[in-house]
Amino acid sequence: YKLNALPHYSIDGTPTYLTGTLLDITEQKEDDQRKNDFIAMVSHELKTPITSLKAYIQLLAVNAQKAGDAFTVNALAKSNAQINKMTTLINGFLNLSRLESGKISLDIKRFDLALLVAEIVDEAKTTQNTHTIIYEPCEGVLVNADADKIGSVINNLINNALKYSPRGTEVTVVCSSNTAEARVSIKDQGIGLSPKDIDRVFDRFFRVEAPQMQTISGFGIGLYLSAEIVRRHNGHIWAKSEIGKGSTFYFTLPLA
Ligand code: ADP
Repeated sequence: YKLNALPHYSIDGTPTYLTGTLLDITEQKEDDQRKNDFIAMVSHELKTPITSLKAYIQLLAVNAQKAGDAFTVNALAKSNAQINKMTTLINGFLNLSRLESGKISLDIKRFDLALLVAEIVDEAKTTQNTHTIIYEPCEGVLVNADADKIGSVINNLINNALKYSPRGTEVTVVCSSNTAEARVSIKDQGIGLSPKDIDRVFDRFFRVEAPQMQTISGFGIGLYLSAEIVRRHNGHIWAKSEIGKGSTFYFTLPLA
């Protein structure tokens, strides 16, 4: 059950009664479970054809390269990039279902977070030409963490910053540290979030209901997964935002 209630007080301040609703959410939970099972099954089934599609595209690209067919090489590179996007999406779904069933495990190693952030920012700079990505680097920030998973958190936050802000604006990635923790922030000049939505963006399947959102595709799982990954590393994740001005997403990780 989910309780949504307001207390009422007598003149001397003692609470006297509650008014509100007591909602039976059994059905909603079963719905979520069905949604999860379905997503897990579809994602799993999609992996095989996508892997083979990728292999064929690579084969064609090698041939086109040999034949000096620049147009085909270019078209295949674009197809490959789209396939990579699809793979990221599917891996997100698979991670979601693993997370829900408690099967996600962390592969913890000591590494320099500064290098990982720099690598991801560089990649983001070359794979898009819609935004100016500014990077304020840090140096020698050792953490004990799962580099792949933290990488997917950073990627996710950068992709959201690009997705929810207009072309031609700036996305600023800042890496910093103090004696206890490393902090990464990703700031955009985009549509922003209302105070009411800021905390809910980390909920599963949550997407803001706004007119602009109709043209931006998504499933509302990226931030949920990111938050779960950061929390499992004993870090924190949060956002600051103002509607129409832009958002900044932050996360921290304890230093090694
Ligand atoms: P998705 O982007 O696939 O919908 P996410 O879990 O990554 O899923 O984000 C959840 C929601 O949070 C988004 O649908 C969007 O409404 C909001 N959101 C996320 N990042 C930003 C951002 N940088 N600026 C504004 N809104 C954002």
